[in-house]
Amino acid sequence: MQYTHRFKDNSETGLPLGKVVCVGRNYADHAAELNNPIPTEPMLFIKPASSVVPLEQPFVVPQGLGSVHFETEMSILIGERLQHTDLSAARAGIAGVGLALDLTLRDMQDQLKKKGLPWEKAKAFDGACPMSVFVKPDQVADLQAQQIRLTVNGDLRQDGNSRQMLNQVLPLISYISSFFTLEPGDVVLTGTPAGVGPVQAGDQLVVELSDLLSVETSAQ
Ligand code: ZN
Repeated sequence: MQYTHRFKDNSETGLPLGKVVCVGRNYADHAAELNNPIPTEPMLFIKPASSVVPLEQPFVVPQGLGSVHFETEMSILIGERLQHTDLSAARAGIAGVGLALDLTLRDMQDQLKKKGLPWEKAKAFDGACPMSVFVKPDQVADLQAQQIRLTVNGDLRQDGNSRQMLNQVLPLISYISSFFTLEPGDVVLTGTPAGVGPVQAGDQLVVELSDLLSVETSAQ
């Protein structure tokens, strides 16, 4: 399914799809549920543009590769080139705020972690990043006071708040930009709150960001 960055009113952002830079274990309660230590520095990984599909369309759950987990995350669309940036430049570089699922082949990831191997196959596969439309940043009063919710088949599975982030959005963007230049159209995923679990073909999902965004989708 073709993906382009759009705003909530369906207008085009004019930004090309680039890489997706993700942070692992950015909520203490999620690190704890996977028995992972809380990192002392942001733990970064990248999903390529080829992993992005529209969240508003049914997304494909890979078959025969073990469990596939949902991780619901606030997404930040980057509108300017950011390199070794400070906090005010990071704020000025935000072109949109949305939601994404950081789909994870959890069994494969566990195997790769055990062997000390990179995670890419478990995190960066085709379709691994269903991504929503974006709200304009001036409509988001406080980046660190946003409720992030996921309902699966009517059950509330994730219900966190961006105030619980270990690395807040602006310092995180600044930190990322000291390793990876962020280009217009890149997206930052800010980590998942607790409650991650398996998603299966046929599941109906509702993903919400406070009262700013609500997306219904399904797994197939
Ligand atoms: Zn994640």
